[in-house]
Amino acid sequence: MKEATFENALAFAQDLIRLPSPSGEEEAVARRVAEEMDALGYDAITTDEVGNVIGVIHGSGSAPRVLLNCHTDIVAAGDPAEWEHPPFEAVVKGGFLHGRGAMDIKGPLALQTYAAAMLRGRTEGDVVVAHTVLEERGGWGMEHLMTEAGMKADVVIIGESTHGDVAIGHRGRGELEVVLRGLAGHASAPGRARNALDLLPPVLAAVRDLAANQPSDPMLGASSLVATGIDVLPESRNVIPDQVTVVIDWRVLPGTTFEDMTAAVEAAIRGRLATVPDGFGIDVRMAQERQRTWTGLERDRQMFSPGFMVHADHAVVRAATEAVGRRVGEGPATARPWTFATDGGWSCGVHGIPTIGFAPGEERFAHTNTERLDVDEARWALSRYPELILAVQQAVG
Ligand SMILES: [Zn+2]
Repeated sequence: MKEATFENALAFAQDLIRLPSPSGEEEAVARRVAEEMDALGYDAITTDEVGNVIGVIHGSGSAPRVLLNCHTDIVAAGDPAEWEHPPFEAVVKGGFLHGRGAMDIKGPLALQTYAAAMLRGRTEGDVVVAHTVLEERGGWGMEHLMTEAGMKADVVIIGESTHGDVAIGHRGRGELEVVLRGLAGHASAPGRARNALDLLPPVLAAVRDLAANQPSDPMLGASSLVATGIDVLPESRNVIPDQVTVVIDWRVLPGTTFEDMTAAVEAAIRGRLATVPDGFGIDVRMAQERQRTWTGLERDRQMFSPGFMVHADHAVVRAATEAVGRRVGEGPATARPWTFATDGGWSCGVHGIPTIGFAPGEERFAHTNTERLDVDEARWALSRYPELILAVQQAVG
């Protein structure tokens, strides 16, 4: 059996970086993760219908079940020539592991996978490690695991970078579309057309009205929304358009559903435009994207990632900050929200399971061509992880 040492975990992370895995193309990484779980002596390993890999270390008793989660997809690397170190070579240099996925999230994924293995024979509750697909496109993998597959867990730890802090939530994100409809016509004869662009001023004013009245949270800050784009059809410059789509990016506080979001936009538009003029129409909807899993499932998915927040005084947060401690100095780790969205929105925001985050890595390197993971920080994080898992297990028991 393979030994669960930091050196082996680092080599495993390097192997994963060398297998590029854009969203929907995670198969090679999923297989490599299952192979490593097997080598590390996991008790059960499965791959589900959307392509998530799930490994279990069985507990010796009936203590609560801890779920560890990272994602198997990565964002695009862009032009490799723009990288100081090639994005898929996993170079270790200057004390850092370099490459796409080094910190988001293949480094932390390797650490979580090893941390669970380190608890073989030491845990009274099951430790489940589920690495899910399509997180970078809204989290179909995690939503499937929690909702359709009905994964049971008492507490969840997400491996998105926290630089050694304990993360306790984030805002959610929804992408909405306001579709303005009219009647197309030749630009030389405007009288025969209904120009969909004429609806634009009241709709943009309504978006600003709504943006000026957003709730705020002391930890997460304010909810915010803004129009980020306009699509016009037909695209021809000598045709009066019959369809104009306004795109809205909305960062919401936990608890907001997409039904709430569309209803609020509709109400704001009514505030600026009591009746839609004859021959025109307005529809508000969540933006959708056709997605495909590496296992071959296809679905139109709404562009919505829920937010979540666990109170800083929650027993799980207190246990986690004490178990992790500080890399430098004394006292418990800092509890704070993430600025970006994670799959924790599904486990906690939608399913109510206490969820926290812990991982090495600095947020500012994520999704950039300088992505890197501090090797010493990663070594420290792995040394804290088993204690963290046992502490949160006890806290919910
Ligand atoms: Zn990530």
